[in-house]
Amino acid sequence: MSADDRDLEEAARKLFSGPVSFLKSAPELKFLPPATVPEIAFAGRSNVGKSSLLNRLTNRSGLARTSNRPGRTQELNFFEVGEPLRLRLVDMPGYGFARAPKDVARKWRWLVNDYLRGRQVLKRALVLIDSRHGVKEIDREIMKMLDDTAVSYRLVLTKADKIKASALEAVQAETEAEARKRPAAHPEVIATSSEKGLGMDRLRAAVLEAAES
Ligand code: GDP
Repeated sequence: MSADDRDLEEAARKLFSGPVSFLKSAPELKFLPPATVPEIAFAGRSNVGKSSLLNRLTNRSGLARTSNRPGRTQELNFFEVGEPLRLRLVDMPGYGFARAPKDVARKWRWLVNDYLRGRQVLKRALVLIDSRHGVKEIDREIMKMLDDTAVSYRLVLTKADKIKASALEAVQAETEAEARKRPAAHPEVIATSSEKGLGMDRLRAAVLEAAES
């Protein structure tokens, strides 16, 4: 790791050990907060470990609530990081829930698409992929939306502790191959475990770096 990377990780670690707070939920675009701060959005299918990742990333166990009713919450949740304010984390509604009615899926598509298309302060999206499953068709839908709206994004593997090191290496290579085929995707994939804290320094650094880009 270069000295610059180390400095970035250190700055990111400090930032995320400072103030982080929930700002608001936006069920529709008219409820978005003013576009005054860089935003980094987190996307992923329901149960991928998004809430756990946001909590671990910000060192706050109850910040993002883990939903026990998948598919019910079609909202963008905004969290503010830093004092003075440096960036916002945006928890996007999960997708791919098995028994969701059609109108829920449609609402998800509208909300997400409108947000991605119109949000100038959105600097990057992080698309979470379960290490045990790799990239699925449903993940390619959001990746395509990001490619089409030219929002740069990065794939992040979750729950890395659930598989063996050799399997993790294989899924990471496959996921990177997938990312390289995508115009708006960063070629490097970060493997994480919210349970063990793996990859969190890199992820925090990636968030800060994106906010400052
Ligand atoms: P969300 O629906 O994407 O917000 O997912 P959650 O954060 O609620 O996590 C879904 C389930 O996966 C929960 O039972 C978590 O405890 C579990 N989980 C999340 N992250 C990890 C991880 O890094 N390792 C392990 N072993 N389990 C995890």
